[in-house]
Amino acid sequence: MTAKRIKTRFAPSPTGMMHIGNLRSALYEYLIARSGSGDFILRIEDTDRERYVEGAVDVIYRTLRTCGLDHDEGPDIGGPHGPYTQSERLPLYGRYARMLIEQGDAYPCFCPPGRVDRDEEGQETETFGYDRRCRGIAREEAAGRMQAGESYVIRQKMPLEGETSFTDDVYGTITVMNKELEDQILLKSDGYPTYNFANVVDDHLMEVSHIVRGSEYLSSTPKYVLLYQAFGWEIPHFVHLPLIVGEDGKKLSKRHGSTGFDDLVEKGYLPRAIVNMIAFLGWAPGGETQEIFSLKELEERFHIEGINKAPAVFSYDKLNWMNEQYIRALPFEDWKGMVATEALPAFGDQAFDLDMLARVLQPRVTRLSDIPDMIRFLTERLPLSAELFYNKKAKLDAGRAKEVLEAVKPRLSAVPAWTEEAILDVLETAGSELDIKKGQLMGALRAGLAAQQVTPGGAIETAIILGREESLERLERTLEFLREA
Ligand code: GLU
Repeated sequence: MTAKRIKTRFAPSPTGMMHIGNLRSALYEYLIARSGSGDFILRIEDTDRERYVEGAVDVIYRTLRTCGLDHDEGPDIGGPHGPYTQSERLPLYGRYARMLIEQGDAYPCFCPPGRVDRDEEGQETETFGYDRRCRGIAREEAAGRMQAGESYVIRQKMPLEGETSFTDDVYGTITVMNKELEDQILLKSDGYPTYNFANVVDDHLMEVSHIVRGSEYLSSTPKYVLLYQAFGWEIPHFVHLPLIVGEDGKKLSKRHGSTGFDDLVEKGYLPRAIVNMIAFLGWAPGGETQEIFSLKELEERFHIEGINKAPAVFSYDKLNWMNEQYIRALPFEDWKGMVATEALPAFGDQAFDLDMLARVLQPRVTRLSDIPDMIRFLTERLPLSAELFYNKKAKLDAGRAKEVLEAVKPRLSAVPAWTEEAILDVLETAGSELDIKKGQLMGALRAGLAAQQVTPGGAIETAIILGREESLERLERTLEFLREA
């Protein structure tokens, strides 16, 4: 067998948002193509009209673009095997299904939907599903009924004996008894194909070399293999991906929190961090401890042998950690833009120093959406209490804080420029002239400005973010409180 050009496809159904599982398929498909200098195509599988959601196709395009997963062929950019939207390919599926009838590998079925095999007591039997009642109708009779306009579906005629085997690149060789395979529907009565049929026809016609998808499709794959064989088509590589579970070991679902790409972005995770985290949901580079990989690095390093069949655990802790690494490494200007987006609405009309705020937050933020809460002490004047000024180590309490702030506030009011250096200079001079320890100075000032003992950044940084006017007003308000305390 000559080595075929590597080609993978992402074949989402436009049924809503992009989940982590879909995105993982897309990412692995993209990476398998790119790491082998192959092509990655996008195909929209919209034949299930009942599950179709308006706008979902745009979500797919947007998500792929945001994550940097560019495709080489697809409905939007065309390509040699279009159309790439299944609902535009209906005549083709009809033609191939009829070809199978002619060959004796499929048959029309006139039964009402939902007919299943039952034993003598009327109980549904465990295997087979449909009871194959129409399989025995003579060809001429079937052709006559079809021509007369009777409603029918087309079913695959499974061999009743023997077994079917295939080798999955991740799960190894899988063998099933043919008699356990249902005569599944290939074409519905409205002329739409089922997923089970359309995926095989399209993957072949689009020359897909590696079919990469979730392991939930593993059990149907023997049926697809039988279709490839019936058509005499080359069997592609199958690469089934492990189940994604939550930390409790159960299949990832809503109860584990948001698992949609848009939800995670909304929560303040950077797309690049999400992609990096998803790369590890079932893959590991092997023999390395590196965990931060850019998409470019993944394109170079990804390999099918690194895919693991054990369930992959999705962990928010891991994602948080990853997001922190990406935030820390962002170019400052990019980071500043993100902080501005979160902070501007929170500050409203109040002036603040964005540069300093961004500098203080970059080493401390886990998720962008945490920012409004983290900066509440800046955007609101929080209630004061005597406890805020208590620090045993610094020998500070409300009484001492009052003395310190009374001494320092006039000096701060007089500082010529509201800069870090100038404020530090004032504090140091006041400290040595008035014999105030640094811990007391900084502790009193921080609590006095923030009405909070712990803040991202210290007293001086807080003063810079707030600006001269707001800082001095806050100190005056604090002093009023302390004088009465
Ligand atoms: N349309 C299927 C889905 O969204 C694709 C499965 C496959 O990749 O073959 O689950």
